[in-house]
Amino acid sequence: MKTIGVLGGMSWESSAQYYALINRAVRDRLGGIASAKFLMRSFDFAEIARLQAEGEWEQLGVMLAEAAVRLEQAGADTILIATNTMHLVAPKVQDAITIPLLHIADPLGAALKTAGHARVGLLATRFTMEQSFYVERLAAHGVEVIVPDEAERGELHRIIFEELCAGELHKGSQDFACGAIADLDTRGATAIALACTELMLLIKPGDSVLPLFDTTALHCQAAVDFALGD
Ligand code: GLU
Repeated sequence: MKTIGVLGGMSWESSAQYYALINRAVRDRLGGIASAKFLMRSFDFAEIARLQAEGEWEQLGVMLAEAAVRLEQAGADTILIATNTMHLVAPKVQDAITIPLLHIADPLGAALKTAGHARVGLLATRFTMEQSFYVERLAAHGVEVIVPDEAERGELHRIIFEELCAGELHKGSQDFACGAIADLDTRGATAIALACTELMLLIKPGDSVLPLFDTTALHCQAAVDFALGD
């Protein structure tokens, strides 16, 4: 079994899900008390979120790249960035290491394509919904992205940072997200990408009028496939 290296803590609420999902999948596949070979570097999210808000992507790229190098030196065979947003600096991280970075949008794009979804609604932070890095990665898989309107994007961003990353789940926010999904349905999306690693805590398949593609689960599955050599 190969060792999975994770850049986490962004936020730890979702990193905890990564740890559980990856270990559970290894146990399901290998049986008994088998568990993942797992290394994590967990950042202080208050510091990361401040630098994101200030647009300090260069510095963030250096921080993640340095951490990835250390994980490689410690024995990691692959690196996962356990947040969609921070894939904005994924090229910088990949350039710093000799092991593969498993990009979170790739298993998402592959799953959407396999399921026959060519037009997906994206729920994420403003950074992920509004900058090109994520939309272009999905386009390379033949998937077109549509995003919520300006007001919805602002509120989703607030919910992610002020509530989900702080460990708070509110019914009103779940209703709001489901309303945004219904709007994307009206505009022609046939599926929804939960492209923020905490959104799966708030929105479950039964809440949504459209099928959900959860990047946290898909990313973890890709890591386990890699680690077990599939
Ligand atoms: N975990 C979230 C994501 O997947 C947001 C945290 C961040 O801004 O890195 O984008």
